[in-house]
This record gives sequence, C-alpha cells and structure tokens, in this order.
Amino acid sequence: MNENQQPIIIMREGTERETGKTAQRKNIMAAELVADVVKSTLGPKGMDKMLVDSMGDITVTNDGATILKDIDIDHPAAKMMIEVAKSQDKECGDGTTSAVILTGELLKRAETLLDQGIHPTIIAKGFKMALNEIREHAEDLSTNVTELDKGTLRNIAKTSMASKNASIETNILSDIVVEAVTSVVEKIDEEIKVNLDNIQIQKVHGQSISKSELINGLVIDKTKQHIDMPDIVKDARIAIINDEFDVKKTNVEAKIEIANPTELQDYLDKEEEMIRDMVGYVVDSGANVVLCQKGIDDLATHYFNKEGIFTVGRVNKKDIQRISKNTQGKIISRISEITGEDLGTAGMIEQKKIGDVEMIFITDCPESSAVSIILTGSTIHIVDELERGLHDALFVVKNALEDGKILPGGGAKFIYNAMMLRDFKLSISGREQLAIEEFANALEIIPKTLAENGGLDPIDIIMNLRKSQNKGDNTFGIDINDGKVKDMYQENIIEPIRVSNNAIEVATEAAIMILKIDDVIASKKMEMPQGGGQPPSPY
Ligand code: ADP
Ligand code: MG
Repeated sequence: MNENQQPIIIMREGTERETGKTAQRKNIMAAELVADVVKSTLGPKGMDKMLVDSMGDITVTNDGATILKDIDIDHPAAKMMIEVAKSQDKECGDGTTSAVILTGELLKRAETLLDQGIHPTIIAKGFKMALNEIREHAEDLSTNVTELDKGTLRNIAKTSMASKNASIETNILSDIVVEAVTSVVEKIDEEIKVNLDNIQIQKVHGQSISKSELINGLVIDKTKQHIDMPDIVKDARIAIINDEFDVKKTNVEAKIEIANPTELQDYLDKEEEMIRDMVGYVVDSGANVVLCQKGIDDLATHYFNKEGIFTVGRVNKKDIQRISKNTQGKIISRISEITGEDLGTAGMIEQKKIGDVEMIFITDCPESSAVSIILTGSTIHIVDELERGLHDALFVVKNALEDGKILPGGGAKFIYNAMMLRDFKLSISGREQLAIEEFANALEIIPKTLAENGGLDPIDIIMNLRKSQNKGDNTFGIDINDGKVKDMYQENIIEPIRVSNNAIEVATEAAIMILKIDDVIASKKMEMPQGGGQPPSPY
C-alpha cells in the first residue's frame, strides 16, 4: 500500500493470478492428469481411445500424439504436455506416449521432493545432471544397422506397429514399410537421408489389410476424363500442365453484346477455335498424356479423346510436383508454349481399380525416387488407424537408417538407465542426489506401465528386470507377449536409438520447465460470441 492506502493495480482487471505452491501443485497435477489419459495406451497390450469431436465424428486410436492433439485441453500446464507429444512426434514420429508418461512421472517424483522441502531449483539441477549422464551413455546397449539388414529393419517396423492396431498384419505391412523406405534412401555427403515425402500413402477401404501393396511409382486418386480413353498408355509422354483448358475468364469485367443469332454462332465458333488451338499445341508437342492441375473443359476433353490422348484434370498441386520430378517433365504454365522437350516420360500409365475406387498409376519413371503405398482395410476407421501405425513405422525405419544404431525396446533402455543413475548418484554429494534417485525411479514407469497394461504385476516385473541388470544382462526387457523378462535383441523388440533418448530429453526439459513455474498470471479470457465459449477461468 502506498501513502494514501490506495492499492496499486499493475494488472488489467479480471487477470487471475496464482503464486507459489498453489500454482506449482496445480500445474503438476494437470500435467499428471494428461499423462494418465494416455497411460493405458502404452505398448502392445495398450487399449484404444474413442475420440468424438464436436461434429460427432469418431476416431479410434491408441496413438498418444493423436489423442492429445484431438482432445480439447484448457489448462496451460496441460497444454505444455501436448507440446511434449508434438515435439517427440516431430523429431522421431514415435515414442510420444512414452515421452508424455515420463514427463508426468518425473513431475510426480518431483512432487515428493517438494514435500520434503527440497527447492525446485535443486530438483531441476539434479534432473539436468541425470539427463547429462544419460546423454553421455546414449549409445550404451546399441548395435549398428544398415540398409542391408532388411530383417532388422522389418523388426523395427514390427516393434513400432505392435502397439498399434496395425499389429494384425505386421508381416505384410513391415515388408512394405522397409521396401518403401529403402527405395527412397539418399546418400548426401556420405550421410544417409530419407525424405518421407517421397512415400505417398493412398488409403482405400472396403478391402482386407492383406491387399495393401507397394507401388514403385506414383498413384493419383483421380480418373481419366473420358470413358473412351484407353486404360493403359505405354511409353507415356506426359504434358504436365498448370493452365486452364478453357476459354480464359478475363480479369476485367467485360460485356459482350450479341445482337443476332449469327453473332452468337460466331462467338461460339471463336471459343471452339481457341480450345482447338490449345489442344493442337499439346498434340504438336507429341504428348499422349495430359495431367493438368486445373480443369479441362468438356470440349477440350472431346478433342483430346478424338486424338487418343489420355487426360486427367484437377490433379492436386503436390501430385503435379511429384509427377514433374519423377517423370522429369516441366510444369507448363502457358499451354501455347509447350514443346516436346517439356514432356515427362513414364513406362506406363494405367487406370486400375483398387477395391471400389479407380486410381491412376504412373510407373517406370526415369527418376524413380517416389513410391506409393496402397493401404487397404475394411473400414475408414481401421484404415485411418493403420495409417497412423504406418506413419510411425516409416519414421522408425527412417530413423534407424539415418542414425545407423538401434536400442532394445520393452523398457530395457529405461531400466538400464535407472540402474546406471542409482550408481551415479553416489558420486554426488548435495541434495541433488535425491533428485537423481527420483529421476531413476521415474524412468521405471515405462517398463512398469508396459507390464501393467499387459495384465502383469508391475512390481514383480521391475524386480526381475533389476535382477537381470545386476547380472549384467543389460539388454533385457519385458516381452509383453508372454510376460517374461528376456533379451530384447533376441526377441527382436528393437527401436531406433533416437526414440527413447529423445523421449527422455523432451520429458526432462518439460518437467523442469513446469516445475520451475511458481506464478501463473492469466489474462482475462476474450469473451466468446453468443455465449458459445468456455467459462472465463483457465483453471
Ligand atoms: P509410444 O507412443 O511411446 O511409441 P507405444 O504404445 O507405441 O507408445 O508403445 C511403445 C512401447 O512398446 C515401446 O517401449 C516398445 O519398446 C514397447 N514394445 C513394443 N513391442 C513390445 C513387446 N513385444 N514387448 C514389450 N514391449 C514392447
Ligand atoms: Mg509407438
């Protein structure tokens, strides 16, 4: 209070503020609640969630990133947890649930330290020390993998898909994934790079998963424009066009006054002539296929058909770019300027039926850098979930190749790091020692949750795992399929080195960040129009 006993107001009216322990505890609680939401989905025996959006559309998934992306979360600390999942997904494409669960557990363990009166800065410091120690040993337990180890790569894909609904047909899908990734591997300055944009997924429902296949080339979800056009064009010479086969609409507003029927006929004739000219340019270039980003009008289609040219209109921009790259053709933006040199080529262009849908296949391209996966499944929801599994699997195989190293899964890395930290903490004298101990305990949440979700006794499993570690069996983890503690390499439960290391990294950073907040200042929420919004408080 100042001299006049007037309160000094520094924040806008309506601002809500929580400080000290209240803020800290509420944040931790919110973060733990988010972790709890996804906990039951971890691992091969994890359960699914059914998400229903405001339109009533449903998604059935056990993909942590998808669940967190789709649920409507309001609390600021909870939102930070979603960032954990997003960041893990962006870096690794897998391991999102693990990262979120670990963040929650680190915070829970931090809470017990707070209860003992240990300052958040000390906890943060201890957590950082633990993380550094893990970083230094990031490659422990790892083995090498190369492009040639297809069996290993398949097992990496399988481990990743084991925890998705895709697990029903992991053999077929893991073969497809490995073939797809290895066929788009590039070596840039001795470094292996995989650009997943070169792998395109076309989803088709109404057929069993086993009908899924890999196409060496491009597949476009479009059809030829005229029924009389051929279904197959061999030795395709392709005009890739980003211009309209239509009489141009002028930008300026123009009014054409027509006084009598002859003038109308003249006008129509002129229009027809222009279209015929456009088709003529393409014919003269020697093209036998036209793939156009814009529309091709009926009259143009009619002339193309008469010339025996196969045409597809409204091909999306990304596909046009892919086609241009793979067939080595130029994208033409003015039809009148097309020449034979601009054309792309492909051994074959074919319209084929997959399930109930017709699609166009472009294969035997000169620059065969792209592949397409036709992903089939009985219903839309199944295909969508398969696609999420496939996304993870493509990512892990890419990571494994780029990193050149893999780690054992089934919690082996986590239990190993936990044991390692328990030794390490003895070399630390301050109170940070306690934080390192709690960090170690937190890491065990991964094998513990895997066990719990698999209907096993988590305490027994953890004891068995610790025992194997003590014996020097450091690559032992839990095999969820039979509930036994085994060598994960022998069981082929393997992952790229990046996934768990990155999960530990993002989880630690997020936990520290949330832990160090002791003041939440929330501006008054913007009023939502027509009372359709949420209540004003963010808590
Ligand atoms: P995340 O989003 O973290 O990838 P998942 O639900 O995909 O979560 O589960 C991944 C975990 O499941 C990893 O720790 C992986 O090692 C483990 N896992 C996969 N297959 C098995 C298995 N057969 N036995 C035990 N653990 C497995
Ligand atoms: Mg996974």
